[in-house]
Amino acid sequence: MDCIFCKIANGEIESNIIYEDEKIIAFNDLDPKAPTHFLVIPKNHISSANEINEDNEAIIGHIFKVISKLTKEFGFDKKGFRIVNNCGEDGGQTVNHIHFHVLAGRQLQWPPG
Ligand code: 5GP
Ligand code: ZN
Repeated sequence: MDCIFCKIANGEIESNIIYEDEKIIAFNDLDPKAPTHFLVIPKNHISSANEINEDNEAIIGHIFKVISKLTKEFGFDKKGFRIVNNCGEDGGQTVNHIHFHVLAGRQLQWPPG
């Protein structure tokens, strides 16, 4: 499958990796929308939030646990941060490998455009 995030996960495409374990990887977004903007993905291909089910729910929980650990390490637990998942066309998803954006370091607006 020609998936850019699978290629980042297996090292075929270079990225600025900030966290890695056997199941997931976190790397800085190429086009950051905040002073800190990284993406967290499962190494195994899951297309979108539409594909979350009982077989892969543990990896989603793991991703959120690691986000909580990383944001604490970066000191964002006090001021806050935002976790975003875009799903499908209306959600604005452009890469069809599930990913969670973590945005921090400035006051973020709500609602999104
Ligand atoms: P989406 O729009 O699907 O929610 O988010 C995709 C994100 O992936 C975008 O923020 C985009 O900047 C980022 N992105 C796309 N291609 C690459 C890449 O090759 N490397 C990195 N580090 N980020 C990428
Ligand atoms: Zn993939």
